Amino acid sequence: MKVIIGQGSCGIAAGANKVYSLFKEEIDNSNITATISTTGCIGMCYLEPIIDLVENDKKFTYVKVDEEMAKEIIEKHLKNGNPIDEYLMDDVSSTILNSQSRIALRNCGIINPENIDEYTEIDGYKAIQKCVKEMTPDQVIEVIKVSGLRGRGGAGFPTWFKWNAAKNSKATPKYMVCNADEGDPGAFMDRSVLEGDPHNLIEGMMIGAYAMGAEEGIVYVRAEYPLAIERLQLAIEQAREKGFLGKDIFGIKGLNFDLRIKAGAGAFVCGEETALIASLEGERGMPRLKPPFPAQKGYWQQPTNINNVETFANVPWILLNGGEAFSSMGTEKSNGTKVFALTGKIQNGGLVEVPMGISLKEVIYNIGGGIKDNKEFKAVQMGGPSGGCIPKELIETSVDYESINKTGAIMGSGGMVVMDETTCMVDMARFFLAFTREESCGKCIHCRIGTKRMLEILTRICDGDGKEGDIELLEDLSVKIKEGSLCGLGQTAPNPVLTTIKYFRNEYEDHILNKK
Ligand code: SF4
Repeated sequence: MKVIIGQGSCGIAAGANKVYSLFKEEIDNSNITATISTTGCIGMCYLEPIIDLVENDKKFTYVKVDEEMAKEIIEKHLKNGNPIDEYLMDDVSSTILNSQSRIALRNCGIINPENIDEYTEIDGYKAIQKCVKEMTPDQVIEVIKVSGLRGRGGAGFPTWFKWNAAKNSKATPKYMVCNADEGDPGAFMDRSVLEGDPHNLIEGMMIGAYAMGAEEGIVYVRAEYPLAIERLQLAIEQAREKGFLGKDIFGIKGLNFDLRIKAGAGAFVCGEETALIASLEGERGMPRLKPPFPAQKGYWQQPTNINNVETFANVPWILLNGGEAFSSMGTEKSNGTKVFALTGKIQNGGLVEVPMGISLKEVIYNIGGGIKDNKEFKAVQMGGPSGGCIPKELIETSVDYESINKTGAIMGSGGMVVMDETTCMVDMARFFLAFTREESCGKCIHCRIGTKRMLEILTRICDGDGKEGDIELLEDLSVKIKEGSLCGLGQTAPNPVLTTIKYFRNEYEDHILNKK
């Protein structure tokens, strides 16, 4: 028998380490023939701690396992082979899990992220070997082009185009950088991949590096992700030991690529690629003017490509299965799948990976299980503080880059904060604006001062001190901040305010007119 304990950050927060110790102690100190292993988050954070008992290809998944339940499972199932039905995952949850299309998350919650052999046993590092042994860099880029993969970090820029631009830059050395500075409140897709399947990220970066001609890679991870950093570091060391990283990789003379981790201090603005580069160089994380673009002059003025974790996590699968297999999913312009972090007033909080083009309603109700405590759905904030809210009238909106943009929100990195009927939308806008004001690097006057003024106005409206003309003032400031800001942070900071005014103007008016 094999016991697998989910030990992503969510599982650990729910008590998985204590449960692990109980099982380990029993297995070590008794004559039970069983092994114990760890895995990352399967996406169903609301059911953690999750434990699989696997025997002869039959898997029993126990959910919400506390210490008392663990002792009972050990006694009845582990020692005596009698599963406890009432503790097992129910059919509804199993259906939710099985109805997803998992590419980026395909190994998360399945394999042991601390054991490279579990990754290689399921074709891990096969895609990069296929690239370096059978394909030219141009052919690799062509596969990514056919797949239609767009950057999953927020902007949705075609991945092949960036790789090609970096490849065509003549200067050397070149750098492949992974943006793992996931900073949106409510987003944890990248952390889950780093904790649950770090070799998949490494392999995706290696493929991109081969395509553009880079010999050095850097993963920029926020220091608030200690477990992700620990597991990624271990994965890098294991890959080096196998000869997959370093000099003459896979035994091919002259083929070099190595990786290192840079822990960032957690500034939201460092998710912007030029600020990230400044931070990598030891400077304060402040955005720089573009052009030149990183593909021409990035890290230390050398050609640099930056993609986020989820983008890279799709790459090995695409190379093994073909660009068409990926582009056959999704909509005409938004191909493949997308990972979303479901948070807020949702029944089943966690991560889901679904094909683009699915409706918001399907995500929130069929997969997310609907709203907590039988309340009414009111709106969903998409794209974090740079995004906007989408009201219940638009719940049939297709989840793809173009359709989400039309609502005034953005896809962003995939955070979905669900709100119920009790949420004050003005207060919600104030929350997100307070975040961006705090995170503004201060370089541009419009962003630095404008967000401060907007926050003051929102605060007085929420406090019942709003004045006639405040809504118009907010709209006017929003336009100026968007136009006068250098980077995406300032250009998108007013979005939560603008979308709440657009869809919930009555709530602003109610606060102002009725002084509440
Ligand atoms: Fe800094 Fe804001 Fe200007 Fe971006 S828009 S560079 S965060 S001040």
